[in-house]
Parts: sequence; C-alpha cells; structure tokens
Amino acid sequence: MSTISGLSIQGAVVTPSSTDYEGAIARLSATSVLPAAFVTYPATPADISNILQFARSQNPPLQIAVKGGGCHSSTASSSDGGIVIDLSRLNYVKVAADKQSVKIGGGALWGDVYSELEKHDLVVAGGNVWNVGVGGFVLGGGYSNLSGFYGLGVDNLIEATVVLASGDVVICNKDNEPDLFWAIRGAGNQFGAVTELILKAYPAHGPATVGALAYPGTQLSEVLAVVQNFLSTQKPGHRLILTFSRAPPDYYPSILILPYIEGTEEETKFALAPFTETIKPVFQQIVSVPTFNAVSHSADAFLAHVPPRAALGGALFSNLWEDTITKVFLDWMAFTENEDSRQSVVMWELFARDKIAEVREEDTAYPARKPHYYAIVDGRHTSPNDDGPTCEWVSRIMSIINQANLEKEGFQFPTPANFGLGTEKSEDVYGINLPRLRELKAKYDPKAVFGKFWTL
Ligand SMILES: Cc1cc2nc3c(=O)[nH]c(=O)nc-3n(C[C@H](O)[C@H](O)[C@H](O)COP(=O)(O)OP(=O)(O)OC[C@H]3O[C@@H](n4cnc5c(N)ncnc54)[C@H](O)[C@@H]3O)c2cc1C
Repeated sequence: MSTISGLSIQGAVVTPSSTDYEGAIARLSATSVLPAAFVTYPATPADISNILQFARSQNPPLQIAVKGGGCHSSTASSSDGGIVIDLSRLNYVKVAADKQSVKIGGGALWGDVYSELEKHDLVVAGGNVWNVGVGGFVLGGGYSNLSGFYGLGVDNLIEATVVLASGDVVICNKDNEPDLFWAIRGAGNQFGAVTELILKAYPAHGPATVGALAYPGTQLSEVLAVVQNFLSTQKPGHRLILTFSRAPPDYYPSILILPYIEGTEEETKFALAPFTETIKPVFQQIVSVPTFNAVSHSADAFLAHVPPRAALGGALFSNLWEDTITKVFLDWMAFTENEDSRQSVVMWELFARDKIAEVREEDTAYPARKPHYYAIVDGRHTSPNDDGPTCEWVSRIMSIINQANLEKEGFQFPTPANFGLGTEKSEDVYGINLPRLRELKAKYDPKAVFGKFWTL
C-alpha cells in the first residue's frame, strides 16, 4: 500500500527523492531514460484507474507512460516530468486447466513465461530474449522463433484486460469489445494499459540447434548463396539470423549465421551441412538445447556485455537481394570503424514467413502481412555524443531496406511499432489500418492519454 498526496494505491509509488528512483527509471537502453515525476507500480487494474484519475487531476494533467519490460529503445515507456505506470508487479503466468491457453500478467517478461510453461511442457509464440516484455512485444506485433508455425504474437492473443483512459477496466476478445480487440493487436500501446493477456499455448517444441557460425566479411557473396539455397527449402522450424558483427578481440567485419533449427541431431546436421561444408566457417559453436526456455537464455550473456546506449530499428523486406545486402554491409562496415560504435550489428531475420501471411492486413491492426522477412538494426555505443549519429545511421539503414523493397517490389512495408525509432510518420507504422485506428482512438482515448509516438 502506498499513499502520496492525492493518490493511494495497493502497489507502490517512487519519486525523485526515493532511494530506488534511479533503478525505477532505468531502461534496457540508457537512451530511453527520462526523469519521471512519479513511477508507480500498480498491484491491480483498479490501482491503474486511480493513477489515471490522479494524473488527470493535476494542473496541467500529468503525461502518462506505460512500461512493460522497458526494452523499446525509444523513450516510449518513460516520461519527462510525468507519471510512469510500471506494470512489473502484474507479473504472473497461469496455465489453463485444458493446457490450451495461458494467462499472463501485463508486466511479465518472456523468461518468466517460459520458466513456468516448461513445467507444463508448453510453449507460446513469444520473444526470443528472456528480458523482453510480453506486453510491448505482443501489442506491437511480435516475431517469435515459432512464427513459422504459429504466426505473430498478436495472432495468438485470445483475450486482453485493458484499463482505458476513462479508468474503466474492460475485457476484450473477438466477441466482447471486438473493435478494441482489433486495435490492440498491433497498436496496443495507443489504447490503454493492458494488465492481462491470454495467449494460445502449444505442446513444447525442442530440441533445437542454436549457436553461431562465423565467416570473414570478404565471404559475403558465398554466404548469401548458401543462405538463399537454405531459404528455398525452409521448414517452419528452420530459422536463421544472418548477422553483420565485429567480434572482439580484433573487431574485423564478420558475418555470423545464428541458426535456430528444430529437429533431431541428424535433421539439424543435414540442414546446416552447407554452412559447414560448402563454405567453411572460421569459428563455430553449435549446441542442441532441450527447450525454448533454454533458447531464451542464450541472448542474456550477450546482452549483459553490450554497450549501454542503443538505437534499435527494423525494416521488413520481401527478398534477400544481394545488391541491397551488400550496400547495407558496406554502410555498416564504414559506420562501425568508429571504436565507440563497433558493437553495432545488423541482423537479417530469416524465418518461414507463410504463416504470418495467412492473416489479412485488415484482420488485425498489425498491417504487415505480405510475405516478408525482417532486419534489425541495433546501433550500440557508450558515449551520449554518439546518440545522434547512431540514430541517423539506424534510420538510414532502415531507409535503404524500405527503398529497395519499393524499387524491386513496387511497395514498401510498414515499420513495425516494435522496431520503430519513434520518428516515423504514423502512416508508415500503421499503414492501411490508420483510418480505422483513428476512429477507434477517438472513441476509446479521445484525449490521447496513451501512446507517446505516432499520433492517431
Ligand atoms: C534485446 C531485444 C530483443 C528483441 N527481440 C525481438 C523479437 O525477437 N521479436 C520481436 O518482435 N521484437 C523483438 N524486440 C523488440 C521488442 O518486441 C520491442 O522493443 C517491445 O516493444 C518491447 O516490449 P517491452 O514491454 O519490453 O517494452 P517497453 O519499452 O516497456 O514498451 C514498449 C511499448 O509498449 C507499451 N507497453 C508495454 N507493455 C504494455 C502493456 N502491458 N500495456 C500497454 N502498453 C504496453 C509501452 O507503453 C511502450 O509504448 C526485441 C527488443 C530487444 C531490445
């Protein structure tokens, strides 16, 4: 129970004078930190209604920011002088008796989910990294290692509990508040604080082969030829990340193949044979992991050692065009000559894409449904002086990929909210669904209390 003047909640409130304030405003990327006037930790949906009422009662009303896992590299979950609703105390995972679904608190992280699901031999189409928030991931789309089987995170949402700007707590699903249910599946952060998500659950997957195979940057063309061949026979459980990376101690430009291949040892060996025999890696570490839980841990060690400041953007594309990939490679190589930026990476995420394309663009608010892959551009650095140049670089690489798609396919994909920098136009994020989203915003959040970017 916590009480400050005008606000009493079952959860907690932290202010700049609290000893734990620095930790309360910390985010995965130091660039996402803003000095909030209040950080609140609601323990119930009713707490959030009270917090919203408190924010409204101030003169002027306080800005609201909702934090899930705090992983978005923009300042979307932070506030300069406003009030943060940090959902981390709404963290629970409850498997349904029939094992077909799982109820997840709006502040849970994927690692929390997998640790619990492992006990039940279940899995969901969730994020690949332990500390990414379930809320932001699902409500902004959500690409999973299992997307080849089950589509996006939003495609697996059965029901959500939302605290609206009015303070009303509503349950939405395909029958109850169907418009709201449509809107939060892609533009969730614009409509309220989602305190609970019910996701489809599936029998556990595994084992999977994961790890890294490294090639010198000079071999880009040969590696691409093998990757193209791999994609032509790709199965739902076969996923690769082609990564441009400079690894210590020498920081030479290199190409990493990061596989996620489900199947027996024999099957995965066969699938990866071209990567070890047709072309020869200079380094390889390939292991079999028993469960998805173990997979989600594999990025933890890596993330613990990356520079603290990040600009993470992404772009979708129809095909792995050699000229585009080479152009991005040369640009990345030049950018990472700078010592402070040399741990920046470009990751081409190549998964079996048909399942996502089974859903029509207008069926959920998430508008990117033509068959596609995606690229993550992760600009990493330590000095605040490099914040601007890093954002410019990430934005430039996103533009190169978007422009290539426009030239080669005649259209450009929307930028997923989860991979946006916050500087994109709303049209470029919500695509053909923007007009309907605007109508629903006027109904559910007319004073634009939620959603710091991409005005609806
Ligand atoms: C290391 C890393 C790995 C990633 N891997 C993937 C990946 O494999 N696939 C993929 O699709 N994306 C991936 N992402 C992107 C990730 O999905 C987005 O950054 C996502 O927004 C993170 O959600 P969060 O809750 O952690 O973030 P936050 O920064 O807390 O929130 C992001 C946005 O969502 C809103 N939000 C969060 N929770 C809620 C809620 N419960 N109710 C209402 N609004 C909410 C916030 O207000 C904010 O606008 C990755 C990001 C990182 C940093």
